[in-house]
Amino acid sequence: MIIVMKKNATEEQIDNVIRWLDSVGYKAHPSRGVERTIIGAIGDERGKDQLKFTESLSGVEKTVPILKPYKLASRESREGDTIISVGDVKIGGSEFIVMAGPCAVESEEQILQSANVIKKGGGHILRGGAFKPRTSPYSFQGMEEEGLKLLKKAREETGLPVITEVLDTGDVELVAEYADILQIGTRNVQNFALLKKLGQINKPVLLKRGLMSTIEELLMSAEYLLASGNDQVILCERGIRTFETATRNTLDISAVPVLKELTHLPVIIDPSHSSGHWKYVIPLSRAAVAVGAHGLLVEVHPEPDRAVSDGPQSLKPEKFYLLMEEIKSIKNALRKT
Ligand code: PEP
Ligand code: MN
Repeated sequence: MIIVMKKNATEEQIDNVIRWLDSVGYKAHPSRGVERTIIGAIGDERGKDQLKFTESLSGVEKTVPILKPYKLASRESREGDTIISVGDVKIGGSEFIVMAGPCAVESEEQILQSANVIKKGGGHILRGGAFKPRTSPYSFQGMEEEGLKLLKKAREETGLPVITEVLDTGDVELVAEYADILQIGTRNVQNFALLKKLGQINKPVLLKRGLMSTIEELLMSAEYLLASGNDQVILCERGIRTFETATRNTLDISAVPVLKELTHLPVIIDPSHSSGHWKYVIPLSRAAVAVGAHGLLVEVHPEPDRAVSDGPQSLKPEKFYLLMEEIKSIKNALRKT
């Protein structure tokens, strides 16, 4: 249930509603918009008739049931879009945000070189995996804490915030110490223990769509993060598994407008894991800008032919510079329409 407060509702009236909700066993999730405050009441669906009484409390304009299974992630529960600040970078607004870097942190030289390329090209956030989810147990599993330290060093040298993946609930505190954004990869989209744990940290989370998840299932995973207390959630479409084998996965470009209709959360595209080949990365990125995504998560490596993971889908520095130029042109062309 959503409780819509009157435009001029006071803080005291808002607090009173929150206390009342608490007394009937509901958790209040207030969202303070420019115009008014909206309070999401989350709890056992069986008590929802009781929530109707909220309308008699002072400062309340109306109550609105949310029929979708995801509540806090739904558009109704917020006024406007969620914009997430990471340093000076704002994700979810009008600027197209590029998160770029190698699949994995491999060495000090490699991550510093990558960070300098991303910085030079005008990228906003450095990506790099320290804990890698690999299909084979014999593949490189990541540099772990050593990799996190190198990411920190790269941030210190370039000023770029960093995003990195966390695989295990036991590593959340450690990764949160170093990362500016924590990534939940496609394989962990329904790792509910990890979602709940990341719901309790005060850092943005990038949630990737599962290989086999529907849009609704992705939103239900986001709901776990929101319901556990973290409202800084970025969604990422990274390709889904279909009958098509020409690309590594199939980029579901329509997920962007659909998600933008259903949720207030930012939506970005990963053209690297969705296609599996560098030559498709620029065309898909053009589509990402044009379709209205809030940004990209893209793999870039100083020497893709030497990469320990995902070399074939990684852009060389000069292709990354070209990509950044193309993004600018498309953004400009869209402004004119
Ligand atoms: C990654 O971003 O490095 C990654 C492992 O991606 P995904 O979870 O989408 O496969
Ligand atoms: Mn990768």
